[in-house]
Parts: sequence; C-alpha cells; structure tokens
Amino acid sequence: ETPIEKKPSWIKTRVRMGPEFTELKGLVKREGLHTVCEEAGCPNIYECWEDREATFLIGGDQCTRRCDFCQIDTGKPAALDRTEPRKVAESVQAMGLRYSTITGVARDDLADGGAWLYAETVRQIHALNPGTGVELLIPDFNAEPDQLAEVFGSRPEVLAHNVETVPRIFKRIRPGFRYARSLDVITQARAAGLVTKSNLILGMGETPDEVSVALRELFDAGCEIITITQYLRPSARHHPVDRWVKPEEFVEHAKTAEAIGFPGVMAGPLVRSSYRAGRLYAQTKAH
Ligand code: SF4
Ligand code: SF4
Repeated sequence: ETPIEKKPSWIKTRVRMGPEFTELKGLVKREGLHTVCEEAGCPNIYECWEDREATFLIGGDQCTRRCDFCQIDTGKPAALDRTEPRKVAESVQAMGLRYSTITGVARDDLADGGAWLYAETVRQIHALNPGTGVELLIPDFNAEPDQLAEVFGSRPEVLAHNVETVPRIFKRIRPGFRYARSLDVITQARAAGLVTKSNLILGMGETPDEVSVALRELFDAGCEIITITQYLRPSARHHPVDRWVKPEEFVEHAKTAEAIGFPGVMAGPLVRSSYRAGRLYAQTKAH
C-alpha cells in the first residue's frame, strides 16, 4: 500500500497481534485462503481476526461498474464460478469464524445480476457453519424485486447496501448507481424483515451538514446500522482525498446518528463498513 497523500497523525493503527490473530494468520497461509482483510491490506485485521471476524469477496476481481473510490478493477468478469459459495463456506469453517462479511462485485453481465451467487453463498455458509453470522454487503441489483427477493430469501443476519456518499456528488462518485435506488434497496430489505445496514465514506467532497441529511434519509428509508468512515485514496487514478475528517467530527456524526434513532452506529477515521461487524450486529439486536 503506497500512501498517495500525507495522512494525518490520527490515521494510525496499532499492530497488536493476539493469539487468535496469530493462529488465523498461519492457517490462512497454510490453507491458501483468500480474505479481503489481507488482500486489501486492511489496518483493522488484528482486531477483527482476534474476534474471529473476516470479510470475503465473491464474483471475481472484475466489476461491471466503476466507483471513484473503489480499488476493484472494472472489466469483463470471468464466467460464474458455481463452486465459489461452497469454497467460501469452507473458508469460514476452516477459520472458525464467529461472523463473516460477504461482499462482491456487481455482475451486470449475468441474467440474474449475480443474485443466485450472493444468495447461495449465504445458504452455504449457514449450512456448514450454523453458529456463524453472515453479513451480506450487496450491490443494488438495480432494485429489481425478483433479484432482491432471491437474495433476501437467503436470510443473512445483516443485509448491507452502502450509499457511500451524499446525493449532491453521488452521480460523480458512483455513476453506475442512483442514490434514491440505493435507498429503495434498503427499504425493500427492511420490508423483508432483515436487519439493514449502510455506510457513508467521508472525504470525497461532502459537507458535514449533508452528512446529517443523508443520515436522516437513510434512517427514514429503513436503515438500522450505520458506519461512517474516512476515504483513503487507493491509487493516483482514484478520486483525490477532499478532506481528512477530524476524529471530533466523527464523534459528532455518531451522536447525530444516535439521536436520529439508529440502534447501531460506528464512526471513525479507520472504521470500515465491515469493522467489528459482528459486535455491531449483536449490539443492534440487543437494542
Ligand atoms: Fe467497487 Fe462495488 Fe463500485 Fe464495483 S460496484 S466498483 S465493487 S464499489
Ligand atoms: Fe477484514 Fe473488514 Fe475487519 Fe478490515 S474491517 S479486517 S476487511 S473484517
């Protein structure tokens, strides 16, 4: 990971290797497993793995859409791998995870948008790992009710769909998505009886007031868990960092979200949408 812009002092992680982390690290290497945690160089890996939580990417390494902040390449995806759901479930089992986050690329090349792949991955993880929570972070499936119904029917513990930014700059940052359509996905998930979650990445041109408005709109759309994070530019061809949000501002946004009524809130410079996701889910359920 090469730093593109100088990061402020508060973007620092503590390297604290606990016993669970060390065990998982060796196991993942021996078994040749792939996690987003390692492959994206996530700074939270010591904490999440210590809690036996990890994130996996499905659908391949080429996305049919292009978002300005995302390090995944845009291109023609490889053919659908129908064995992938089983392989991911086996990785979850091998790692003895308590909670797994599954995310993936948009597969607009497939007739079902990848709905089967997402749903089958949840089903396989649950079948092999009855005690493990699954958080499914989905693209929007163009808000197609049939595709969403298949995905929702797999009953992940949490259904996440990230709006990532505020409406004014949304089209520039996520040209393949629509803000209102993303809110609709969240509304449909909540109506299906799922626990819903979304994320906002700050530092891409939004103002603090726009963040407050977006929080209110997300809540009104049915979103229950919200994470608020800092944008880190993956490479020079990505959107530049507009601002480094101070830790105090994250605290303010968290307070706003709690006041609005979100039962699950996590905000901070190093927070990721999958950061301590199992813990946040448990907290939300207990609320
Ligand atoms: Fe990245 Fe998802 Fe956007 Fe594809 S749809 S570019 S994976 S954020
Ligand atoms: Fe893995 Fe997400 Fe935790 Fe990073 S924040 S270590 S990607 S689970």
